[in-house]
Amino acid sequence: MLDHPHATPEAPTLDERALATALAQRHFIGGRFVPPVAGASFAVINPATGQEIARAAEGDAADVDVAVQNAAAAQKSWARMPARKRGALVAQCAGLIRAHVEELARLIALETGKALRTESRVEANTVADVLEFFGGLGSELKGESVPFAPDVLSVTVREPLGVVGAIIPWNVPLLLMALKIAPALVAGNTVVVKSAEEAPLTVLRICELMNRILPPGCFNMLSGYGPECGAPLVAHKLVRKVTFTGSVEVGRIVARAAADKLIPVTLELGGKSPMLVFADCDFEKTVTGAVTSMRFTRQGQSCTAASRIYVERPIFARFVEALAARVDAMVMGDPLDEATDIGTIISPEQFAKVAAFIAEGKATAGASGRACSRLPAEAGLKKGLFIQPHIFTGLPNSSRLVQQEIFGPVTCVFPFDDAEAVLAEANDSEYGLAASLWTNNLKQGLSLAHRLEAGLVQINQNLVVQANLSYGGVKSSGLGKEASLEAMLEHFTHKKTIMVNYA
Ligand code: ADP
Repeated sequence: MLDHPHATPEAPTLDERALATALAQRHFIGGRFVPPVAGASFAVINPATGQEIARAAEGDAADVDVAVQNAAAAQKSWARMPARKRGALVAQCAGLIRAHVEELARLIALETGKALRTESRVEANTVADVLEFFGGLGSELKGESVPFAPDVLSVTVREPLGVVGAIIPWNVPLLLMALKIAPALVAGNTVVVKSAEEAPLTVLRICELMNRILPPGCFNMLSGYGPECGAPLVAHKLVRKVTFTGSVEVGRIVARAAADKLIPVTLELGGKSPMLVFADCDFEKTVTGAVTSMRFTRQGQSCTAASRIYVERPIFARFVEALAARVDAMVMGDPLDEATDIGTIISPEQFAKVAAFIAEGKATAGASGRACSRLPAEAGLKKGLFIQPHIFTGLPNSSRLVQQEIFGPVTCVFPFDDAEAVLAEANDSEYGLAASLWTNNLKQGLSLAHRLEAGLVQINQNLVVQANLSYGGVKSSGLGKEASLEAMLEHFTHKKTIMVNYA
């Protein structure tokens, strides 16, 4: 936008506050920053201090229409560009993102409270990896030849769907956005992203950066609230596909709206991921695996967080002690400080929700909740949304803490005696996103892996999203896969059949 008082910097910047100001009150549509049609805005708050860092554009149906019209106009020529060239442009964006990793990491730490070293920098780097991976897949958009009849050539070709609407959450906004936009673009679609209310700035900067390379209108970014801005995006008649990551509740709303238009939808929803630890595991490696899997570095705000840990009884007590000791040693503090392991919860609403779960767990007869690590002492962080991670034991399976997704730094640990019984307990959940097994008995491990109800099961490791491993849940955890070649082909193209009778 030409009349905005603060231009965004051309070169990478480490002044995240000035960058936030420069990104304020604008969408990115048709290759440029534009103000919201109605001129409304909402506050973006630094959860580590409670201070406002910028006001973001509050989009509504009018902004959605401008963005979608731009995306639709750009899509025709984008789709006609050779697929490898589209891929090359997306891969070129990866280089630009890499040059801005520190900048993006600092900005995402500022707006979400995610610790720079353990979370934010890792996420910014992964965006570049994802763009590079999908950027190389342009020539994989292949069809087939189909035997039909003599003198008839039948082939299928992969065609883009058109304009894709992508709705993203605040917990890992850069990565989750990249997993949507990269395959969509390489496949020849154009995209309108609706960012999460809590984290609209860093994705907007990424959109600006990528628009230095992509043709205008291919990648557009709106900020705003779900019902006012997300819902009209799903409902817009020119949006031919919706890809969504967020809560089960909103996922259902989005799926219903998509069903009304008969368009395909990909949903990545919640999780209550179990971790099964057998007495014959490599103990130290498994404790490390649990510490990473619980995602306490992100205050547990992860749909794949190991929130139910089942430990075979002979090592149960030792395991709980080792786990608590490791979490105690983690430093909670200023997300922008390199020494910090654990940052903040995203918002006061999430904070209250998580605190209520913890209070309920502590009040449960027979349960014990151990608070780990320490709240930061700095005066400047007193209003920060820091919660001590809690490790609960003794909770009944019926507890809300065991059944519901908390999305906070809380894990429930249980002893078990029997592999079949623990498998049944692990599967007794409405969710089915991820699971892990820790054992040196691979025969048992593989047998259980096949029977665990989850989209991703890992044995003796806990890497989560890796390019080219399909990622996505079963049951209420979602519909469809992301992150892989098949995800691009199945979710961002349709197969057209062309027949030539040359008799
Ligand atoms: P979370 O609990 O992680 O914030 P939500 O499901 O509430 O997850 O939000 C995820 C994304 O969905 C956000 O970008 C939010 O604005 C958007 N959203 C919320 N409600 C709707 C809706 N009715 N239609 C479309 N998008 C929505």
